[in-house]
Amino acid sequence: MEIILAKSAGFCFGVKRATQMAFDAAHEHEQIASLGPLIHSPQMVEKLEQEGISVCRQVADIPGGAVVIRSHGVTAQEISEIEQSDLEVVDATCPFVKKAQDYAEQLSREGYLLVLVGEEDHPEVQGIVSYAKGAVRIVGSPEQAQQLPREKKIGVVAQTTQSLENFTEIVSICLAKTKELKVFNTICDATSVRQEEARRIAADVDLMLVIGGFNSANTSRLATLCREQQPDTYHIETSDQLEAEWFAGKERIGVTAGASTPRWIIEEVLESIQKISGLTE
Ligand code: SF4
Repeated sequence: MEIILAKSAGFCFGVKRATQMAFDAAHEHEQIASLGPLIHSPQMVEKLEQEGISVCRQVADIPGGAVVIRSHGVTAQEISEIEQSDLEVVDATCPFVKKAQDYAEQLSREGYLLVLVGEEDHPEVQGIVSYAKGAVRIVGSPEQAQQLPREKKIGVVAQTTQSLENFTEIVSICLAKTKELKVFNTICDATSVRQEEARRIAADVDLMLVIGGFNSANTSRLATLCREQQPDTYHIETSDQLEAEWFAGKERIGVTAGASTPRWIIEEVLESIQKISGLTE
């Protein structure tokens, strides 16, 4: 059995940066919390908790000390609440997410109807739209884009983890609905590189595994894209979710992982696959 591991599997730049900033800050502050889970990996959140970084759902719940802002950002309202408190801020918002927040603010200030291509209930999306000063529509699919009203000016930005295909399709629908369209492609390269590589591998293997939090939007999207190429695609969080029967008669196994999947979880999965296939016995 051959295992093909994607080069881009695991932490992206923004998540690596945020976790490093959080671990460093944990050594400097006696009391420290993150506003919402730092990344979409329950296993990593547990590790951070062991380092003393608790998770608080709202600013009012943070007992004092320092607060870490997660890589996919928080809302403008939360930032202003933090500014009014005595909390020290460790801002680990990914610079690419920050760019999307800035463009949202700019487009709405310039009078565009802001169309944000993304998943409505994702914290990154809620963060980005909170920076808009005017009307906003969150659009997840071309079907939803068809429902948009005709507008004089439409400005479009994307949740950083969107697929380029979905974004492009929605942008072209927006073009048919306005005379003036301004588009900022805020899709992060890390996402498209990971998606492309995963697609390529999935098309060339007998079984595809996608590792990452079930609550991670980018991992779920990765699994969907892989499934389009290889119906035998499984999304798992940890190695104990692997089932031996998946591997029966399979020669080539592809593996990738979402942007918030720690390296040690990927290693554990690889070891388990080898055990299952009898390679190490
Ligand atoms: S996927 Fe891209 S935008 Fe999101 S945290 Fe990682 S590097 Fe930043």
